[in-house]
Amino acid sequence: MSGMTILVTGGAGFLGSNLCRRLVAEGHRVVALDNFQTGQGGNLDDLRGHARFELLEADVAEPFDHKVPAALDRVYHLACPASPPHYQRDPVRTMMTNVLGTLNALELTRQRGARLLLASTSEVYGDPEVHPQPEDYRGNVSPNGPRACYDEGKRAAEALAMDYHRTRQTDIRIARIFNTYGPGMAPDDGRVISNFITQALRGEALTIYGDGSQTRSLCYVDDLVDGLVRLMEQDRTLGPVNLGNPGEVTVRDIAQTILEVVGRGTLTTRPLPTDDPRRRCPDITRARALLGFEPRTSFRDGLPPTIAWFERALSQH
Ligand code: NAD
Ligand code: UDP
Repeated sequence: MSGMTILVTGGAGFLGSNLCRRLVAEGHRVVALDNFQTGQGGNLDDLRGHARFELLEADVAEPFDHKVPAALDRVYHLACPASPPHYQRDPVRTMMTNVLGTLNALELTRQRGARLLLASTSEVYGDPEVHPQPEDYRGNVSPNGPRACYDEGKRAAEALAMDYHRTRQTDIRIARIFNTYGPGMAPDDGRVISNFITQALRGEALTIYGDGSQTRSLCYVDDLVDGLVRLMEQDRTLGPVNLGNPGEVTVRDIAQTILEVVGRGTLTTRPLPTDDPRRRCPDITRARALLGFEPRTSFRDGLPPTIAWFERALSQH
């Protein structure tokens, strides 16, 4: 389908800017909405001035329906800081972004007769006791620890989306996104890939938290964006559907691969943050079967364009 009007909340962020680029290229009219808390307008410089693209400043936790076009077909609801240091900086705001922001986005979607895709997260599984994590696993989340503003906020957002569907027939899709990396990440966002690449390029030691034996499964951004669009544009499931790359690696392996590819650097250790999940890997059986989703980019292949992005971003600071 092309020629739809699509709202992307959090459109200036890492995933949002990559998604906007793909949707504009497919022929849609795209409205990106952002409060620039963690995203940068510069991420969208190549789209500025495009006839089918618009960037609006608004906070999703405040009513924003009067700012967006009257006719709306799709809402990708991504607005929320995603990196632990950012979402923990003002945890009350993070919870409000998730709860009030998702409520406002759902109400807008209902009023306009559109369809909303919620960007949920693997964090709804917390520190998982089931491995890899399938969608029917209910998780092991601390309800009041330092990550709760984000984890419980996203769980509340999922509940709201399902309740809007059940009680108000709102058309929704829920994506549970696993760790994603690639061009468009902010160098200072504090996530593992941003930190390690930035540190390696600056000749600083890579900061491994804990002993580095904890695992993550890293998905290249183009693969993830493809999964979001596939989930949005099919009618077989509302979700939740896990989207990510099931190739599981330790944090120490991530550091060592980055050192090899950048060609220089050393390692150092820092304390493991509270409630840092020990293992994380998506079971993507559902995404494969229902969406035909298949992540194609290995970490080795995804790293060079990502490093090139960070080199450019750092040279501009
Ligand atoms: P990001 O921080 O780069 O982007 C988030 C964007 O939302 C930013 O541009 C920020 O300014 C904006 N924003 C935050 N609060 C807002 C508010 N109240 N009103 C309007 N805009 C607001 O993060 P990202 O990696 O692009 O993540 C996008 C979404 O995907 C988030 O909802 C995140 O929870 C989810 N997600 C991402 C990952 C990942 O690995 N990148 C993993 C799981 C889930
Ligand atoms: N991490 C690390 N060094 C860093 C940043 C992160 O060792 O400089 C670890 C972190 O403790 C976690 C993993 O890398 O185990 C992924 O962290 P990130 O903040 O990217 O995302 P999370 O998956 O924890 O939300």
